[in-house]
Amino acid sequence: MTGAPRVRDRSGERRGWRRGGDPAARDDRDGADGVSAGPGEGAVTAWVRGEIEAGGWVRAGAAAAQRLRERYGADAVADLSLGQPLEAPEAVREAFQRAAAAVRPRRFGYMPNLGYPELRERIAEDVDVAGVTAQSVAVTVGAAGAISMALRAFVEAGSEVVVIAPYFSEFRLYSEVCGHRLRVARAREDGALDLEAVAAALSDATGALILNTPCNPSGHVTTEAELRGLGALLDAHHHRSGRRVLLVVDEVYRRLIYPPHRRAEPFHHYEHTVLCRSFSKDLGVAGERIGYLALHPSLTGEESEAGLALCQRALGYVNAPATPQLALMELPSWEADATPYRERRDLIAAAVAAAGLEAAECQGGLYLWVRSPWEDTMAFTAALAERRAVVVPGVAFGVPERFRICFSVERPALRVAAQALVEAVGSRPT
Ligand code: PLP
Repeated sequence: MTGAPRVRDRSGERRGWRRGGDPAARDDRDGADGVSAGPGEGAVTAWVRGEIEAGGWVRAGAAAAQRLRERYGADAVADLSLGQPLEAPEAVREAFQRAAAAVRPRRFGYMPNLGYPELRERIAEDVDVAGVTAQSVAVTVGAAGAISMALRAFVEAGSEVVVIAPYFSEFRLYSEVCGHRLRVARAREDGALDLEAVAAALSDATGALILNTPCNPSGHVTTEAELRGLGALLDAHHHRSGRRVLLVVDEVYRRLIYPPHRRAEPFHHYEHTVLCRSFSKDLGVAGERIGYLALHPSLTGEESEAGLALCQRALGYVNAPATPQLALMELPSWEADATPYRERRDLIAAAVAAAGLEAAECQGGLYLWVRSPWEDTMAFTAALAERRAVVVPGVAFGVPERFRICFSVERPALRVAAQALVEAVGSRPT
C-alpha cells in the first residue's frame, strides 16, 4: 500500500467541500474534517489517515442524521444516507432463531473455511449456470468479503482495478488493502457503461474491473448488450496485451431489480468472472455479514478453491459466521419481495420530480441518483440537512455534480424528504 501512486478523485476537497457539510455536523467538528484530536492521535498508519480524511461521507451523513434526531426527534428527520435495508421479514428472523438453536456436531467450533458443504451445494444450484458447482462457491463475510477475497486471490499486488463512476467508495478500500490502485472510468449520464471510457482505462497494469449491477448509486442495471460489449472488450484486451482482466461483478442488489428491467447473466459473456453477492440487502440481514462468491467454471478448480480458503484466512475472516450459514439453510427460498422497495422508489422519484429535480431512473437497488440543482452540490446537500433531510454528496461516488438519496426508510421520513426537497430548491441563494 505504501508508496503506491494514488489515483483518487479529491475534487470535493479541492473545491473546499467538507465531509459532513451540514449544520449538525459543523457544530461539533473539532479537528481536520471531523477527525478529532485526542488520545491515539497519530497512531494510525498514513494510509488509514489518508482514507479517513478523504472519505467516510456515508458514515458521516449517518452520524449527522443521528445528531439531528437527538435534537429534533426521530420522526422529524429523514436519514437518507446509509444504505440500510428495511427490517428483515418475519420468515428470515425465524430462520435465524432456529439457526441459533440448532444442534449439530461442533456447532460452535471451527468449520471449513469456505463454508458448510451443503450450503455451497445449494448456492451453486441457486447460481444456476452450467458448470458452476460447489467447488466454484465460497461462503463469505458479506459481499465486502467476497470482493476482497476475489481481489486478493486473483489480482497481483501493484495491479490497477478499474471501477465505473459513480462507484461505491468502499471499492477503493478493498482494492488498496490488497495493494491495488484504483482507476476510474465514467459511466454515461444514464448510468450505462461507456465502453470507450472503459477501453481508455485499461492498460497493461489492469488486473480487475469491478462492475456493480444494480449500481449503487446510479440504480442502473447492466443489460445483456452491455455485458456482451464488455466481454468482447476484455477478450480483445487479453489478446492484445496478454493480460486477462478479472471481472468482479458486485450483485449485492440483484434481487431488488424493478420490472421491466431484468438481470443479465455475466457468466454468459466473459469467462474470467467472479460473482459477488450477499443477503445483506434483499433479506435485510446486513449486520449478520453473510454472502458468497461464485467463480465462472473456467476459474473453478482445486487451486482456486485452496487459494480462496487461504485468502479467507489471510484476510482474517477465516470463515463466514456459522449462524447465518445455518439460517440460510433453514430458509426454503432466498427469493426476496422487492415490493416495499419499489413503492418507496416511486414515492421518492415523484417527490424529486415535484421539486423540479432530475434523477437517473432507478432500475434496481435502494437509491435515487439526483442531479444537484446548484453548481455547489455540497451547499445544496447542506440546505437539505438544514431541513432535516440527510443525503450523500456525489463526491463520495466520484461524481460531484449529483447526490444520492437512499429511499430504504419508513414513509414518514420520505414525507420529510419531499418537503425538504421543495424548500431547499426554493432557497437558492442569490
Ligand atoms: N457493494 C455495494 C455496491 C454495496 O452497496 C454494499 C453495501 O452497501 C456492499 C457491496 C457491501 O455489502 P455487504 O454488506 O454484503 O458486505
